[in-house]
Amino acid sequence: MTLQNLKYLRIALSTPLRRLFDYLPSNSEACSHLTPGCRVKVPFGRRTLVGIFIEMAETTTVPQNKLKPIIEILDQESLIPQDLMQLGLWAAEYYHHPVGEVLAHFLPTLLRQGKSEKNFKTERPLDAISKHLTLNVEQAFAVEKIRENKNSFNVFLLHGITGSGKTEVYLQAMIDAIAAHKQILVMVPEIGLTPQALQRFSERFKVVSIALHSGQTPRQRLNAWRLIKDGTARIIIGTRSAVFSPFLELGLIIIDEEHDLSFKQQDGFRYHARDLAILRAQHYKIPIILGSATPSAETLYKAYSGKFHLLSLTQRAGAATLPNYQIIDIRNQKLEEGISKDLISAMQTELAAGQQVMLFLNRRGFAPVVLCHSCGWIIPCRRCDMRMTYHQHSKRMQCHHCEMQKILPVSCEACGANDLLPVGLGTERLESVLQKHFPTVSIARIDRDTTQRKGSMNELLEGIIAEKYQILIGTQMLAKGHHFPNVTLVGIVDADGGFFSSDFRGIERMGQLLIQVAGRAGRVQKQGNVCIQTHYPDHPIFHQLLSADYQAFVQMLLEERQAANFPPYSHLALFRAEGFSETQALNFLKNVKNLAGQPAGISLAGPILAPMPRRAGKHRAQLLVQTQSRNNLQRLLQKIISAIDTIPDKPKIRWSIDVDPMEMF
Ligand code: ADP
Ligand code: ZN
Ligand code: ZN
Repeated sequence: MTLQNLKYLRIALSTPLRRLFDYLPSNSEACSHLTPGCRVKVPFGRRTLVGIFIEMAETTTVPQNKLKPIIEILDQESLIPQDLMQLGLWAAEYYHHPVGEVLAHFLPTLLRQGKSEKNFKTERPLDAISKHLTLNVEQAFAVEKIRENKNSFNVFLLHGITGSGKTEVYLQAMIDAIAAHKQILVMVPEIGLTPQALQRFSERFKVVSIALHSGQTPRQRLNAWRLIKDGTARIIIGTRSAVFSPFLELGLIIIDEEHDLSFKQQDGFRYHARDLAILRAQHYKIPIILGSATPSAETLYKAYSGKFHLLSLTQRAGAATLPNYQIIDIRNQKLEEGISKDLISAMQTELAAGQQVMLFLNRRGFAPVVLCHSCGWIIPCRRCDMRMTYHQHSKRMQCHHCEMQKILPVSCEACGANDLLPVGLGTERLESVLQKHFPTVSIARIDRDTTQRKGSMNELLEGIIAEKYQILIGTQMLAKGHHFPNVTLVGIVDADGGFFSSDFRGIERMGQLLIQVAGRAGRVQKQGNVCIQTHYPDHPIFHQLLSADYQAFVQMLLEERQAANFPPYSHLALFRAEGFSETQALNFLKNVKNLAGQPAGISLAGPILAPMPRRAGKHRAQLLVQTQSRNNLQRLLQKIISAIDTIPDKPKIRWSIDVDPMEMF
C-alpha cells in the first residue's frame, strides 16, 4: 500500500454506537470524488449496512488488520444538502444522540435501504396567485412586518386568538417567497391537519404543494422527498420530521400551533422540530413564523425578552365574535353518567336551532376503571403501575401505556364476587349516553379507536363539515386547529385533569387545551358558547382564561417557573433508566450521578422513581440535571455519556438522555 492510499473513509452508520466508523476505500479514484452525504454500502459484522459518508480521514484508531474496504458507492452526488449535514452533526452533539441515527432521519426509508436514487425532473407549473382576503389592521401590520424582513433571519411569534385569521397572515406572508420561486415549509402538529392545510394553501397559490407525514407509504415518502430536493415542490406541509427536508431553496418557515407537544420527538432521537426549524431559518437567513393562540411559556418569554418579534391578533377575523363562557359547578350535582343537566339543556337549545355541538373528553374507551363493587379491587395492568381501561366495543380491558389487552373478567380476582363495575367516563361511554338522550341525532366520535383505519379520520372530518353529524365527541385529536363553521356549542366534560398533573407544565397544558377546545365554537357569524364542567369553579385559571387574557396567565406561570428555577429560567436534561428492578434502575442512575462528580452551577436531582414506576414490565427511574448554563450542561453530559459504558450494570439497563425534555416522566 502506498502512502497516498493511506486514507480512511469516515462513515455514519445507523447503530446505537456513539461514533463514526472508519473504512478503507474500495477504489481510491472513485472514493476521491465522494462528498459528504453520499451513501456507501459497507460490511458491518456479518451484515451489510448502508452508511453515509462524512469525511476522509488521514489517520485512524482502528488497527490495520481490523479495517475493511467499503463494498460500494451508491451515489455520485450527496443526497443531503450541506446545511442539513451540518444540522445533523450539530443536533447529534446537542441531543447527545448517535450521529448515524440522526442522519437516518434525513432520508426516506427506501433510500436508507440502499435503493437507487434516480434524478427526474417534472414540469414546473405556472405560478398564479388567487385572490387574497382584505386584511384587518392587526393582520395587515403582521404581514407587513414579516414581509419587510423577508431577506433576513427573524423569528416572529404570531400570537392570535382562535379564529383571528392566522392562516390568512401565513398566506399573505408567503407572497414574496412564492414570487421569488423559493420553497416554503409549513409545519402542523397532526397528520389529520395536513389535508386541510394542503387544501387551503394550494387553493391560494397555484404551485406544487405537497404533504409529508408518517402515514404515507415508503414510495410516497420517496417521491415527496425527490420533489422537495429538485425544487419542484414549493409548499411543503408536514409534521415534525418535515424539518429535515432537503430543500433546494427555502424562503420561509411557518410553524402552526408552535406550542404543540408533537413537535418534540419523545423517543430515540429526542429533537424539537421547532428549535431545529429556527436553526434552519437562521442558516438560510429567512423569516420563521411561530403561530399559536396559546404560545408556550418558553416562546412567549423569548418574545418578551426581545429575541422573538411579537405580533398579536386580538380580534376574531371577519364577523366572528368570541364565545360566551359558562362554568358549570358540578360539585354536589347529580350527574347522569358524567353529564350535568345544564350541559344537556344547552345542547338541546343548539341542536334544536340546527347547529352542531362538540363535546370534549380527553379519555378514550368506555370506562377508565373497572372495580369490584363488593371489595373495591381494581383491574390493574399486570405490566404497569396502572389500571386498565374498559373498551365496550371489543369487550376488552386495554392498558393505554403498554400493548396489554385481555377479555373483561367475569368475577373479582380478590374476592370472587361477580360484581365488576365500570366506573368513570370515556368517549365510548359518552357516545352511548348521548345516544340515549338524543336518539334521533347522529354522532361522530373522533379518538384513536375510531380513526385507526387509513382515511377514516378524513371521512369523519368531511362528514362533520357536510353536517352529516350534529354531535361531535372527541379527544384532543379534535381540539387541534380544526375549523368547523357550524359548531356553536363546545362542552368540556371534565376540565379538572390538569390540576392533578405531576409535570411542572401541567397547568400550562391544561390552559392551552381549554382555550384550543373553546376556540372551536362560533368561528363564523354565529355566536359561540362554551360550557365547562368542573369541581373547582373558583380556580384562578378559569378567570384568566375566560377573560381572554392568555398572556396574563402565562406571566403567572413564568413567575412560578422563576421561583422554582424551571425553564425558561434554567435548562434541563433528563436521564431515564429502565431495568428489571427498581434498585437496578436507581443504582444505574446513582452511578451516572457519580460520574458527574460535583459540577459547579449544576444541580442533579434524584435519582427518583418515575411518576409511573413500572411500565410494560420495566422499572423506571430518572435523574434531572438543571443548570443556568447551556455550555456547562453540554460539557457535563459529554463527560457522563463518554464514561457511561464503564457502569457495571449498564448492559442490563435501557437508558436515554433527553435534552430540553418536554414531559417529565
Ligand atoms: P385561526 O387560525 O387564527 O384560528 P383562521 O385562519 O382559521 O383562524 O381564520 C378563521 C376564519 O376567518 C376563516 O374562515 C378565515 O377565512 C376568516 N378570515 C381570516 N381573515 C379574514 C379577513 N381578513 N376577512 C374576513 N375573513 C377572514
Ligand atoms: Zn372483589
Ligand atoms: Zn400496561
